[in-house]
Amino acid sequence: MKPRDRLRIAMQKSGRLTEPALDLLKRCGLTFRQSRDKLFCFGEGEPVDLLLVRDDDIPGLIAQGVCDVGIVGRNVLGEFQLTAGRDGEPLAELRPLGFGRCRLSIAVPQELDYASSGDLAGRRIATSYPGLLGEWLRARDIDAAVVTLAGSVEIAPKLGTADAICDLVQSGGTLVANQLRETEVLLESEAVLAGPTTLPADERGDMLELLLKRLDGVIQVRE
Ligand code: ATP
Ligand code: ZN
Repeated sequence: MKPRDRLRIAMQKSGRLTEPALDLLKRCGLTFRQSRDKLFCFGEGEPVDLLLVRDDDIPGLIAQGVCDVGIVGRNVLGEFQLTAGRDGEPLAELRPLGFGRCRLSIAVPQELDYASSGDLAGRRIATSYPGLLGEWLRARDIDAAVVTLAGSVEIAPKLGTADAICDLVQSGGTLVANQLRETEVLLESEAVLAGPTTLPADERGDMLELLLKRLDGVIQVRE
């Protein structure tokens, strides 16, 4: 890969994290000229550029060195570490960013008898997070089948393809609408700045250090 002298930040192109991430970067004094295709945004003042991609691709792009850091949900970062990124250098959560809060939870049909996590034994659980769910089940020695779905996880019990689900919950409205009740929280999530464990030893590292300092100031002001 060609060496770069500008810091490159990956963030979600369009979704829940896009507006708050841009807003946070703006509060850190970073502004961007939007390019036509909107994959790449050139930073105007500081040597910092943006790569706008699907959130799921962000950890992989950091691991491959296509970008230096990324703004992504802890849920996506954690899942990457346990699956695709398992054999590579682990990525670090450099800063929690205080937005995009949600939790990864297990939910069961309202009528299902559920007293404790042991009641999941022998059941099928649908999720888009097989790594995080698998680890949680292993840690509790629960023998359940993990059914991996790319989306619409919440309808799996109604379709009969699973007995329970493990999905992101914010208000709980989607669960209620699907006659599900939340029984276990696996992970409290929010957007984080993800990056390598050691900063690049060049101008990008210097810029990243400056960005971290500014983030600390901005995030403190918000609290
Ligand atoms: P993309 O097209 O980038 O793959 P997506 O549909 O996977 O988009 P969004 O629904 O925009 O992503 O969610 C992005 C992140 O927002 C999630 O990974 C999660 O960290 C956070 N989030 C906060 N609340 C919720 C929620 N209720 N449901 C889903 N994600 C949430
Ligand atoms: Zn996604």
